[in-house]
Amino acid sequence: MPEMNLNSFEKEVLSAINAEEVASFLQALIQQRSDYPPGDCRGAVSVVAEILSGAGIEFKIHSKQEHQPNLIAEFGGNECKKSQLMYHAHIDTVPPGELHRWSIDPFGGEIKDGNIYGRGAGDDKSSVAAQIMALVTLARAKVALSGCLQVVVVSDEEFGGTNGTRWLHQQGKLKTEALVVGEQTNNQVAIAERVACGIDITVIGKSAHGAMPWEGENAVLKAARAITYLHDHLFPQLEARTHPYLPPPTLCFCKIDGGQQWGVVPERCKIETDRRLIPGETREMAMEEIRQALDAYAANIEPLNFELFSTGEVAANIDTPPDDPFVLDANQALEDLSGEKKTLTGYVQTSDGRWLAKDGVPIIIFGPSEPAVAHSTDEYVSIEQLYEATQFLTLLALRRLRISS
Ligand SMILES: [Zn+2]
Repeated sequence: MPEMNLNSFEKEVLSAINAEEVASFLQALIQQRSDYPPGDCRGAVSVVAEILSGAGIEFKIHSKQEHQPNLIAEFGGNECKKSQLMYHAHIDTVPPGELHRWSIDPFGGEIKDGNIYGRGAGDDKSSVAAQIMALVTLARAKVALSGCLQVVVVSDEEFGGTNGTRWLHQQGKLKTEALVVGEQTNNQVAIAERVACGIDITVIGKSAHGAMPWEGENAVLKAARAITYLHDHLFPQLEARTHPYLPPPTLCFCKIDGGQQWGVVPERCKIETDRRLIPGETREMAMEEIRQALDAYAANIEPLNFELFSTGEVAANIDTPPDDPFVLDANQALEDLSGEKKTLTGYVQTSDGRWLAKDGVPIIIFGPSEPAVAHSTDEYVSIEQLYEATQFLTLLALRRLRISS
């Protein structure tokens, strides 16, 4: 058995964490639906509020939309005028999808073979549970902290954060010196992520009677050929780009919408793409390289009339240096907890941390559960990982904020 490397005070504080209590807290969170639509998080947030009140922890609720409350809890020194450490996780979830594909009730919070099952078990209620229980553990132990630990539980992550993190950030509520974003990293410290950028490609053809396709230019057919061309010529360029902690950038053809109706040669076909940018790439660069590839297609294969369009704000990449003191502290705490060497990683998806990525504070992403489990059927988290995450978050706060004796 690998040995923990903790001092006696740390061991004492951590020993008060009860895996069963953390598990039943997560079960209660799963049992309060908060999926889209409508993304109503009031029930789940009230479960959080109840446990905080029981531990005598102060918190505030900030809502842009009544059904999407955001909760900020705090504990520590300096009367919490300034947050030295912030934990952040989202309490909303994606919908369960087709219910018959689940082998258990997605809102039951069932425990089987050491795992808790349900929508949000991984993404992201397990992170909410671990972060809140870390705060509760410190408060119950009445640990004297020199700085303030804030735990932020947000709504509206899965739908863009307009009523959650983005709004809180605009209101100046998310100021801190170091941030842990809770998402599924299998309890590894992740220091970078790719950022999402939606780019629509519209291929324009010429309509004609469906009985005389030779009179028109079928935009659906042209779009299909253009997709194949991009796959063959642009994808290898993307795959050649590297980042030490992330997969290469990707372009996903997510949705195709073409044609008008039966009997008419399609005049337009829109391809909605999801482009994931690695640090150093921009939306403009991504659009320009699609344009160049399609121009090459038009020059070499067949004439192609197309438009490119991208809306919405593209946030910044999280790309925290691996030698940042916060990263080193976090990885050290993880190694001391497990008694094993730990390697840094990247987060494959995109988190709410992107809205704070320009603030100049070190950000890590850390949470229990597999990234691939998120948004899938029979979503689960292992209780062991949930427990370990709670221990880690408690230890990290202790080491960053405790008044040294
Ligand atoms: Zn998530």
